[in-house]
Amino acid sequence: MTENISNLADALRRYWGYHEFRPKQENVIRSLLAAHDTCVVMPTGGGKSLCYQLPAVISGRTAVVVSPLIALMQDQAAQLAQMGIPAAVINSTQSPAERRQVMEKAARGEYRLLYLSPERLAAGNTFEWLAKVPVGFFAVDEAHCISEWGHEFRPDYRLLSRLRGSFATLPIAAFTASATRQVRHDIIKQLQMRTPDCYIASFHRQNLCYVVHECEARTQMELLVRALRQYAGESVIVYSPTIRRVQETVEYLEESGIAAIPYHAKMETPMRRQNQERWMSDEVRVLVGTIAFGLGINKPAVRAVIHLSLPPSIEQYYQEAGRAGRDGRPADCVLLWQKQDHVLLGYFVGKISDETERERASERKRVISRFADSSGCRHRQICLHFGETPKWESCGNCDNCNARPEWLKGERKRAELPPVAARKRTFSRASFASASLEGPLFGEEAPRGREATAEADPALAEYLREWRRNMARENKVPAYIILHDSTLEELCQRRPANFAELKQVAGIGEKKADVYGAEILQALRNFGGGARAAPVVAREAAPAEQTLRLLNEGRSFEEIARIRARQLSTVVCTVASLVESGQIKLDAKWISPDAQPLIEAACLKQGVERLKDIKDAVPPYVSFEDIRLVVAHMRAENRIAAKMA
Ligand code: ADP
Ligand code: ZN
Repeated sequence: MTENISNLADALRRYWGYHEFRPKQENVIRSLLAAHDTCVVMPTGGGKSLCYQLPAVISGRTAVVVSPLIALMQDQAAQLAQMGIPAAVINSTQSPAERRQVMEKAARGEYRLLYLSPERLAAGNTFEWLAKVPVGFFAVDEAHCISEWGHEFRPDYRLLSRLRGSFATLPIAAFTASATRQVRHDIIKQLQMRTPDCYIASFHRQNLCYVVHECEARTQMELLVRALRQYAGESVIVYSPTIRRVQETVEYLEESGIAAIPYHAKMETPMRRQNQERWMSDEVRVLVGTIAFGLGINKPAVRAVIHLSLPPSIEQYYQEAGRAGRDGRPADCVLLWQKQDHVLLGYFVGKISDETERERASERKRVISRFADSSGCRHRQICLHFGETPKWESCGNCDNCNARPEWLKGERKRAELPPVAARKRTFSRASFASASLEGPLFGEEAPRGREATAEADPALAEYLREWRRNMARENKVPAYIILHDSTLEELCQRRPANFAELKQVAGIGEKKADVYGAEILQALRNFGGGARAAPVVAREAAPAEQTLRLLNEGRSFEEIARIRARQLSTVVCTVASLVESGQIKLDAKWISPDAQPLIEAACLKQGVERLKDIKDAVPPYVSFEDIRLVVAHMRAENRIAAKMA
């Protein structure tokens, strides 16, 4: 089955439209084509799927892919269909008739890839039926789910231990993004792999900028808003520890004029799916979710992942944060944690009944706490955690290596470190024209990205996005399944005039060129002839306006909160930003009697970095709401520094 390089490169170009392999991909593919058991550890965005998809295409046999989530499987099958590679999913949402049809086709060897959940694989007569399918190899995705040592143990995955016994001659390949040495050994043991070829790509994702900041409950939302303003028009995930806080955060953002949608496990399924789709299709850019969101989310162009609490482990943090920047472009991972997170984590750890399991969770908690507290390079700590020893000490791309973002300036840094020099890079240069393929994804071993030449025209980008949106709607798939952002971007820069030039663009394989090529070229010509995207109707800052109107009607904060179905603190925040921006004057009757001069004096003395310090300096009857309003008023009058952003 050994293929020579030109065949592999041909397939890469023909089906994926890519021009070179990412680090380790080619080795993995060769191992699989040589029918070796193979264990692959690669960070999110490293390009694991291609490692099993390409050999499946070349070998002409069927690769059986085991994956934990239906959404993920369907997403991949849809992407493969767009590339002209026959693939199918067998799952519980199909009718028996549909399933039977897929199974028959599979037995005839019509699919290059067949996706199954672990339960399905172990169910009833699946093994007997699979014996009739011309299977080339098994690929176990998210393989760390098999290990109790990992943070995502799924009992179903244990069923995969039976694979080896039933299919002794077929190679097994395991893929994971998140494995410590222990988990790695466990995967190999559980799957009964035989002297597997192991490939471990670096965990150093240079395009990610880590920023970790301890904040107070009172200021966390303000910081979040400031941070989010850096990513206007870009996709962002905000992770919140509880369902209640998902709701509060969405409300707060709405009040601040930032459109956001919630996602959590307790939502009705249709609503959850709809929200996910709206985010996937770029309709709403900010998604606020619990950890229920993400496993199986494949969106390449996410510019930031922001955590509002300490995750329970480095593994989990790395995986969630790693959903940023899968496209290899600069992206930010922001962790805004609070002291009380330790308490919540401790509570969850305490609830684990199994003693060994509790011990492990407790150790994981200790490690992530140390990570958050540390003043050492974040990238380095993560690499060390995963058993890698970087040759460098400092990355230049984390908050502890001179990369503190603008919106955190003025915030006191933990451990009272002296103020750091200006950042080396501007925080998230995510706009279309800038930040093109600045560096390879994984260190020195990576091939250089091809430099894009011309500047992209934002109007053209918008025009092509509109075209893609329409295509996605027509085909009922997320926009990135039609074309990735990076492909769109390259189209803008190169402006191909014919098919030959079009095929030079990364991400346009033969099938895509066939299906969409003529339309893309036409769209480019239309743009040249003056066509433009329909203007997007600007979102009005409705929440603030409503609150303003109700205030002008003389309503109290309590009444406004009731009418608008918001928390009182949310209303106060909205009013504070109206005051700060000068749209309304501070009214003495909003504040506790005599509080204003006391607060003002405390602010001038203490500074306003920590509202808690001010609260401690004034009598107890003065509330945080009082303080917030007075601070806004002082900022409006330029008596203290205005907020950034
Ligand atoms: P992982 O599963 O490791 O998180 P994916 O398989 O989802 O990563 O790949 C991440 C992104 O990288 C996808 O958008 C994929 O199309 C792209 N990609 C993978 N391999 C290559 C390559 N050789 N050249 C360019 N892009 C690639
Ligand atoms: Zn660093």
